Amino acid sequence: MSFVYLLHFDQPIAPGKHTTQHYIGYANDLAARLQEHECGRGARLTQVARARGIGWVVARLWHGDRGLERRLKNRKEAPDLCPICGRALLVRYADEIPAVDIERHVMPF
Ligand SMILES: [Zn+2]
Repeated sequence: MSFVYLLHFDQPIAPGKHTTQHYIGYANDLAARLQEHECGRGARLTQVARARGIGWVVARLWHGDRGLERRLKNRKEAPDLCPICGRALLVRYADEIPAVDIERHVMPF
């Protein structure tokens, strides 16, 4: 089973330069992938965030593949997908995992 996830960073990665505060990723093994991010590997953005002491949370989670990841990234509206930022647009073509179940997938042990 594979997942597409939306990370919300506690603050913009580089205030003033650009206001990126989200990352959309894809993983077969979600817990392992998130652990890589925690260790500053796996994506440039989480690497930079880790180096700057910026934390993050999994804001949304879907069952899906690279196609869904690409589709969500291409929308270029991550802030509008993020419930922490107050919007959380419904993605009608995606199979979303309810917010109450996210933690169970993030920390399966
Ligand atoms: Zn957000």
